[in-house]
Amino acid sequence: MTGPTQKPELPDSSSESALPIASPASRRRRVGLLGGTFDPIHYGHLRLAESLAAIFNFDELLFIPTYSPPHKDFDRVTSAYHRYAMTVLATLQMDIARVSMVEIFAPERPYTADTVATLRRTYGDDTHLFFMMGADSFANLPKWERYQTLLDTCHIIVMTRPKYEVGDLATLAKQYGAGRVVDLRGGLASQRAVTSNLDAGMHVFLTDLFALDVSATDIRQAVSEGRSIARFVPPLVERYIHVYGLYSNGHRAG
Ligand code: ATP
Repeated sequence: MTGPTQKPELPDSSSESALPIASPASRRRRVGLLGGTFDPIHYGHLRLAESLAAIFNFDELLFIPTYSPPHKDFDRVTSAYHRYAMTVLATLQMDIARVSMVEIFAPERPYTADTVATLRRTYGDDTHLFFMMGADSFANLPKWERYQTLLDTCHIIVMTRPKYEVGDLATLAKQYGAGRVVDLRGGLASQRAVTSNLDAGMHVFLTDLFALDVSATDIRQAVSEGRSIARFVPPLVERYIHVYGLYSNGHRAG
């Protein structure tokens, strides 16, 4: 990781060292959240999370593997423990990345609104939480359980995803409120994200960063057909999939 991981200089005085390390006193801490099935995690997730962390100047990036994936067929999803392990391996080299167990420990509460409410309590009201999602997920947002609560609990960042449209500004502004939607598409992302008045309320940011045309579905298919997935996942994830025999010949480990 570059950019966002830079930490402010700590004053010499040891009495100051109890301050949060990554946040200057004048700035509220920023945490980017990426929830996903991560079956498996891939470079599409990783590159976008890294790019948004740089633009929005996150102090922490929290990857949140779902226990059961909302809107997906649970029986066909790999054990949460394998998905958690792969997510840890994929993010271990990123200074600001952590993997959350919040959903894995609360499998009876699978809704994102619940997860973010839990994280809001953990991080406190003084932290800016940004929930990142691809354009495909965003298109379904109005069908999510208590999505209005989610919109009032955290900022949303919508990422472009090949083959999916984010939608036009006028329609989204009507749906979510004109003051809430901030269009960062068109190359101004970095400048405007930093100057947006985050304290004025929760926003929906639309971004159009370069996104990889890859999905976990493509990767599972490639493994089952014996094709290489080296272009799509970090080496340790590729190795994990091989060692634990995930996705091959219809076999799903534990
Ligand atoms: P599957 O193919 O099994 O549906 P997926 O590749 O979409 O999986 P998820 O874990 O479901 O992966 O995705 C988590 C989040 O990351 C979602 O908000 C999704 O929109 C987003 N996302 C996944 N892949 C990409 C990508 N290539 N570009 C942008 N966003 C992505």
